[in-house]
Amino acid sequence: MRIVRDVAAVRAAVAGAGRVGLVPTMGAFHEGHLSLIRAARQACDLVVVWLFVNPTQFNEAADLAGYPRDEERDARLAAECGADILFAPPVEEVYPDGFATTVTVSGIADVLEGAHRPGHFDGVATVVAKMFAMVAPEVAYFGAKDAQQVAVVRRMETDLNLPVRIEVLPIVREPDGLAMSSRNVRLDPDQRRRATVLHRGLAAGRAAVAAGERDAGAAAAVVARELARASITAEYIAVVDPDTFAPLERIERPALIALAARVGPVRLIDNMEVAP
Ligand code: AMP
Repeated sequence: MRIVRDVAAVRAAVAGAGRVGLVPTMGAFHEGHLSLIRAARQACDLVVVWLFVNPTQFNEAADLAGYPRDEERDARLAAECGADILFAPPVEEVYPDGFATTVTVSGIADVLEGAHRPGHFDGVATVVAKMFAMVAPEVAYFGAKDAQQVAVVRRMETDLNLPVRIEVLPIVREPDGLAMSSRNVRLDPDQRRRATVLHRGLAAGRAAVAAGERDAGAAAAVVARELARASITAEYIAVVDPDTFAPLERIERPALIALAARVGPVRLIDNMEVAP
């Protein structure tokens, strides 16, 4: 596996390489990331892993400053999973002097994460559009953990006729249900234990829907009650259409329950599909 720092080198590497698969990441790899790299390895001729802690998608300076980084370990893990190229550009390569263009996706990007993290999805959409332009992948791999990000990227891909196929892989969880996240390493042991309630809350919501609950507010309240048992108040718990992220009042078709909550200093998100 080669580590590449500049756009010219990555373009040279992908030219004529056959089916190129791109795995966008911010590093600090866990099994969630590795599942995407392995899927790309199975389906593609050349696998490019993008490793870049994108400053423009952080809306809190402390979150950016505290974001875990370990390129050496990431490079080893990516190589073990069969990546061909680790594309890890410096900030100036992605945002050169005079950079002035932002991709804004309206609607989907304005609710939930978008409402609570102003500017977040502008940062995501812009950097994803840039990496699609830099790497020209045939397929790009994303995790269902960031379900709204997937919806935003799909909207952008459709609206801008981007010649890339979006593949989405399921959420990888710890044995106790906690969704894997690079931010989990910032939880102390007590917070780590309490964080498992996010998954239990979502599972309780899903069970309520499976048992006949059709009122979205009531299903969300089931999740909130579970979180309260661990003294956690969510920033939001929302029942939405999985494609548009429009809020639902009634659950008459497959839907998504999405939530964000702070556990100690760490903001975590999770989601689960529910079906009547
Ligand atoms: P990140 O490095 O957190 O920006 O994530 C990079 C990619 O990995 C995104 O497409 C995420 O949705 C995906 N990802 C992160 N955590 C998980 C997980 N627990 N399971 C599956 N995919 C994940």
